[in-house]
Amino acid sequence: MIKFSLNCDNGHDFEAWFRDSGDYETQRKRGLLECPTCGSSHVSKGLMAPNVTTAAKREEVAVAIGHAMQREVVEKMRAMAREVRKSGEDVGTRFPEEARKIHYGESDPRGIYGKATPDEVSSLLDEGVEILPLPDLPEDLN
Ligand SMILES: [Zn+2]
Repeated sequence: MIKFSLNCDNGHDFEAWFRDSGDYETQRKRGLLECPTCGSSHVSKGLMAPNVTTAAKREEVAVAIGHAMQREVVEKMRAMAREVRKSGEDVGTRFPEEARKIHYGESDPRGIYGKATPDEVSSLLDEGVEILPLPDLPEDLN
């Protein structure tokens, strides 16, 4: 896994995890990369932030899965991130498990969000589970 700092054309900075730089290119070319703040798909790569995760440091990133793994949902990442926070289920660190259940049809399709380690994010991506990075998660849902 590799973490890239990305910038949109409106000057927003955000970070996203990729399997490798080729994965970043693929997602960018498919228009899957969007600024979580403004939704712009004009995203470019900033400074690389290497994965410094060690066994002693469980770094978690916020991720979400959509109601359906539809392209248009992915393209509305920003709106969806807002939506899952509002109506989705916070599954916390059970996110990888729940995301798999939804992906493999073992659980009802629904919006969930929670936490996953970069390794878990990597595994989910390897399995083709379309998860979304969330820039941050609010402490309360007001
Ligand atoms: Zn932006």
